[in-house]
Amino acid sequence: MTDNKISIEDMATFCKKKGLVFQSGEIYGGLSGFFDFGPECVEIKNNIKKEWWKFHVQQREDIVGIDGSIITNPKVWEASGHVANFNDVYVKCKKCKKPNKIDKSEIGKVKCECGGEYEVLGDINLMFKTNVGPVEGNAAYLRPETAQLIFANFKLVAESSRLKLPFGIAQIGKAFRNEISPRDFLFRSREFEQMEIEYFVNPDDSKKCPFIKDVLKHEINILSEDMQKKNQKPKKMKIEQALKNKVINTEWLAYWLALEHKWFISLGANPDNFRIRQHMKDELAHYSSDCWDLEYNFPFGWKELQGMADRSDFDLKQHINHSKKDLSIFDQETNKKIVPYVAAEPSLGVERALLVFMFDSYNDDKKRGNIVLNLDPKLSPIKAGIFPLMNKPEIENLAKEIKNNLKRYFNVKYDRSGSIGRRYARADEIGTPFCITVDFDSLKDKTVTIRDRDTTKQVRVKISELRDIIESLILKETSFSQIK
Ligand code: ATP
Repeated sequence: MTDNKISIEDMATFCKKKGLVFQSGEIYGGLSGFFDFGPECVEIKNNIKKEWWKFHVQQREDIVGIDGSIITNPKVWEASGHVANFNDVYVKCKKCKKPNKIDKSEIGKVKCECGGEYEVLGDINLMFKTNVGPVEGNAAYLRPETAQLIFANFKLVAESSRLKLPFGIAQIGKAFRNEISPRDFLFRSREFEQMEIEYFVNPDDSKKCPFIKDVLKHEINILSEDMQKKNQKPKKMKIEQALKNKVINTEWLAYWLALEHKWFISLGANPDNFRIRQHMKDELAHYSSDCWDLEYNFPFGWKELQGMADRSDFDLKQHINHSKKDLSIFDQETNKKIVPYVAAEPSLGVERALLVFMFDSYNDDKKRGNIVLNLDPKLSPIKAGIFPLMNKPEIENLAKEIKNNLKRYFNVKYDRSGSIGRRYARADEIGTPFCITVDFDSLKDKTVTIRDRDTTKQVRVKISELRDIIESLILKETSFSQIK
């Protein structure tokens, strides 16, 4: 966990140099707002998604997952309001001529970063349109969010999974938005992935969160609407205090905001780089009574990572009205049919999460003379590098045997090229937490050296114990200093 943040441009350069992220179709000049991810970054992204899914779905009793399609019946997007309203205000700076998008509530209030006034050019719908089948005229859309597929499948999932309120439905998947001005590397792109949950509660019992005690002692930087009006700085508070002093008004939003912050911290992010900010009244959608964002201190300012709105029964009611289907569910506790409320909808971009973990782990280690990505081992693309100390067949064969054995459990990498120092540096730069060196002694006593990325400490361990050691280090059941 480090705090020497580099600029977003330098991060993009680093990612390109290490083969992590490229402009999509780069050999043809790229395409603005689209990116391709190289071998190690696919692993990091998959690890982020895996950890998110484990934490939010598999380790809970009250949340199940779905995987909806990217293109669905376009009526879904008419019902949700996206066809009519998923617009951004298209503006152009009168001074530097740069195009941008702003929110309706920002017209006349915000200026371009060069200081110039904006000229409003009109509304633009952000959905990508396509045609289904060979005959023109069957318009459909690439989904601009994953959430609506949760609402459209709500009753099928709730009944087939026999879910009882309160419960959530989660989804991870691609989303597409024809952003007017994609920028800040992966932060605002036109194709990205979302990890979303719609959390449903009984409307008659929508205030109390049964899990609130899990987060009461959790501390977080808070910036409420009132504090923004008074030009105050964010204040670090325990959730307990924020609820008691009515800084946050609903337990459910407090619970989800704290839980999401905890998820980032559990994977090595710096807690102080986060804050929660309440939306001002004029930022709120008409159906939402309260909304907060979990924000991160990016090198280009505090920006939204994750939105958390109280959406009442707006979406389900819209789908009931448009589909003419009964989407209410039977609640055994009250013996009533209910259209639940959405108490919170944690919605996080995978690429924004990736940027957080990259910034918080990027460490330009002057003493070592190379970059060290101090990624949490769970997120590291490669869990261990395996190096023969010398290019001698018997040492190489043993190193390959160790690699083949460990590969059954972890993503490990065999590397024989360059000096051992160079190999360590290469491993550090993509965040490999452990490096295993095989030498002449290994042939005799069946031990190897294992090196810890963060401290550079090395210990000698038995080859037969490598799997267990690496596993307990990744799970943090053992610390490196405890290994004998
Ligand atoms: P913004 O105000 O930044 O455009 P939003 O409020 O429209 O975001 P949501 O509709 O709430 O975003 O989407 C949920 C999450 O999806 C965001 O918090 C963000 O993490 C991610 N996301 C949204 N748009 C993009 C994008 N263009 N590029 C990358 N991630 C995005």
